[in-house]
Amino acid sequence: DRTFPDPEGATPMMAQFLDLRAQAPMDALLFYRMGDFYELFFDDAVRAAEALDIALTKRGEHQGEKIAMCGVPVHNAQAYLSRLIKAGFKVAVGEQMEDPAEAKKRGSKSVVRRAITRIVTPGTLTEDDLLDARQANRIGALARLANGDMALAWADVSEGLFQSIALPADALEAELAALNPAEILVADEDAKTVSILCPGSAVTARARAKFDPASGDRRLRQRFEVQTLESFGDFSKAELAALGCLLDYLELTQAGAPAKLSAPVSIAAGAAMAIDPAARVSLEIERTMSGSRKGSLIDAIDETVTAPGARLLAERLARPAMDLSSIHARLDAVQFFLDARNLRESVRARLKRAGDPARALSRLCLGRGGPRDALQLARALREGERLNGDFSQSPLSSPPDAVARALEAVSLAARPDLAALVQDVEWAMIEEPPLLVRDGGFVQTGWAPDLDELRKLRDDSRRIVAGLQKTYADESGVAALKVKHNNVLGYFIEVSAKNADALMGREPFIHRQTLANAVRFSTPELGELEAKIASAGDRAVALELEIFEGLRDRLEALSGQVRDAARALAELDLASANAQWAERAAATRPVVDDSCVFEIEAGRHPVVENALRRNSDGRFTPNTCALDGAGKAHARLLLVTGPNMAGKSTFLRQNALIAILAQAGLFVPAGSARIGLVDRLFSRVGAADDLARGRSTFMAEMIETAAILNQAGPRALVILDEIGRGTSTYDGLSIAWAAVEHLHGVNRCRALFATHYHELTRLADELEACGNVSLKAKEWKGELVFLHEVQPGPADRSYGVEVAKRAGLPRAAVARAKEILKRLESDDAPASALADLPLFSAAAPEPEARPSEVEDRLRSIDPDGLTPREAHELLYALKTLA
Ligand code: ADP
Repeated sequence: DRTFPDPEGATPMMAQFLDLRAQAPMDALLFYRMGDFYELFFDDAVRAAEALDIALTKRGEHQGEKIAMCGVPVHNAQAYLSRLIKAGFKVAVGEQMEDPAEAKKRGSKSVVRRAITRIVTPGTLTEDDLLDARQANRIGALARLANGDMALAWADVSEGLFQSIALPADALEAELAALNPAEILVADEDAKTVSILCPGSAVTARARAKFDPASGDRRLRQRFEVQTLESFGDFSKAELAALGCLLDYLELTQAGAPAKLSAPVSIAAGAAMAIDPAARVSLEIERTMSGSRKGSLIDAIDETVTAPGARLLAERLARPAMDLSSIHARLDAVQFFLDARNLRESVRARLKRAGDPARALSRLCLGRGGPRDALQLARALREGERLNGDFSQSPLSSPPDAVARALEAVSLAARPDLAALVQDVEWAMIEEPPLLVRDGGFVQTGWAPDLDELRKLRDDSRRIVAGLQKTYADESGVAALKVKHNNVLGYFIEVSAKNADALMGREPFIHRQTLANAVRFSTPELGELEAKIASAGDRAVALELEIFEGLRDRLEALSGQVRDAARALAELDLASANAQWAERAAATRPVVDDSCVFEIEAGRHPVVENALRRNSDGRFTPNTCALDGAGKAHARLLLVTGPNMAGKSTFLRQNALIAILAQAGLFVPAGSARIGLVDRLFSRVGAADDLARGRSTFMAEMIETAAILNQAGPRALVILDEIGRGTSTYDGLSIAWAAVEHLHGVNRCRALFATHYHELTRLADELEACGNVSLKAKEWKGELVFLHEVQPGPADRSYGVEVAKRAGLPRAAVARAKEILKRLESDDAPASALADLPLFSAAAPEPEARPSEVEDRLRSIDPDGLTPREAHELLYALKTLA
């Protein structure tokens, strides 16, 4: 609902602005380049000034109204861009496409040509300053066809990745959560729903027509120059629609310099363990519930030394594999680096110097890269080559396949063109080149003779200028004479006012300026030198740009090889980092197979363990968990009971995390682990109101529980913590009871079910593949001590009251609670009521709440008719009843 005025009666410049404004999408602000500033006008200015907290000014008039304006300097535009993007804006950049001098030649009134060269959006960033180095920056597109078919496509502009997946409707949430895009494109009518599903992503609405399979197909074929897409794989119609829309948007935002993308890849549904969104959040895999990386799983285990390695780790954890051979290959690589300690250290030292070649490459390909990117890239490739040397000198047996493949991908010996290029870049660039190409000064002396000559010319002339100061001082007899330089006069001579007469009117001095205390002169010779220096300087910079472009083009031509090498470096980083962590944390290699068992011996929770160690709160107690989907060796479903704070949820979560780590191809924090592939991980741990969707805690819990009971198959792993808490005891118990039966008999999946309903533990006697474990606590000198140890069998009782005491509940309240508990326990009503609890139907009705004797008594008195003495006596009487 933003509008800009029509161009009627606009100045030529304003007319050009409004024309660009009409080309830019309405949801973007327009940065209009004017010399050293990007200016914003009208509503853009109002919004930007507010978001950036900069001054809003006025400039000229349009149709009788003053034009609102603000601006940001070009030299630190990045910082402003970054703030605007974070604040949820997009920015269209309108650049000057010619030298203002050119425009002047066309006529004094003509305006410098400008065009939109780029639209900066959260999902299409490539600049290091604007990106989190350790996090992937993905842009997604969600297509939903008229027949209901859905697909998700995504790209990582800074890595060239371009993929899609056809989605069954019930997989949408899990896939979106795994992708966690910075920006997602959806059809207008889906924008609202998707912004709820992806609270962390910028949602960009596109016209429905942009999601069209036929034009998507055409666009893809054109872009990748193929007759048919079959050679890339089998894409569903919805995938074509999603990929096509995404490509269209990338071309729009990159305005003619489209990102280098690899050919599209269709990911098979089921290629990765599906982790439902609630599980991803509650297991705190990439970030904690409060949103920080600190305290997450990844933070606890990340030992990578490069940003691409860290991103690969996040990717593996987001989509743990389902393919045994790749899991084994990854585990082999970790094992190799664990054993080869010296080699690991040298690999890590080399990788530290490799930086982020993938992002440098993408910037170079998009024309945003500078000399520093080129050199960094060459250095990364050089380190890769040296890695090969390290391995060939190592006395160890040959590395496993995954490592060998990575080494092959970084070997320059096998790639003569790339080797030559790397050598040229290293040669051509100075040791520490500037970030930008613009000002030159990055090509090493000796690389290009023409350049050296121009620089010599420039430097010689500067030396001559420096020498002239003495010559002129001698000629004029003014010892204090100085040769200076500014942008207006170029080189000039300056003397103080009292010395001016010595030069005034004398050859070769030409008077230029008289200031308060100084008088300035020029000479023909200085003028000539000035021109020489300027032109040599300009030509030198132009030549440097040409050299840079040449190298850049060669790099671009080899971008496929560079990308493979960059990916291989990340793989080596991740494998050696995981070995490093395994050594530090005593993690072991899991056995992953296609059985249905889940046997974790002495498992630990890496985050809780770290926290305990840091606070020196004692040691983490390792715990064993044995499940068997077939229900043969062990129970398929374990009920986990024990007092609050005993460690139930920690136990549940650690087992889910171990499954994720193992299938990500990483070592696990356990004495030993055997895991039959888990195809879907569900978890309902901890309840939180889902305010965004207007759901109460209990409603959210029931919706998640419903999803689990409806979707979990025999290969799923389900973690349920204390369901039914948010409602009355009988309701809650009935729901929990029914859920256990359903999981056991219908879903038949491996499950851990923590509950505070003691009554449930009896189910183990009735259901063949259901067992009990519990976390014990001991009372010691009247205090409760948690052992955090998982033992067979149900908990003997719950220690809620003791926990309440520890939490600092007032003494009187604790005493009272103990009394009530005693009464409830002696009165076996709840347990007997459960014996014939109707399952899968409405919960047992609440028994008529019978008023207690105390209440009866209280109801019968008339406080106003009591004497103080009677009241006192009544109190004693009531006390005996309580
Ligand atoms: P519950 O779910 O039973 O209420 P939690 O799993 O939340 O209990 O654990 C409570 C606290 O106990 C944790 O924050 C942690 O400090 C500690 N804890 C849990 N499990 C262990 C363990 N295996 N070893 C040592 N401390 C543990």
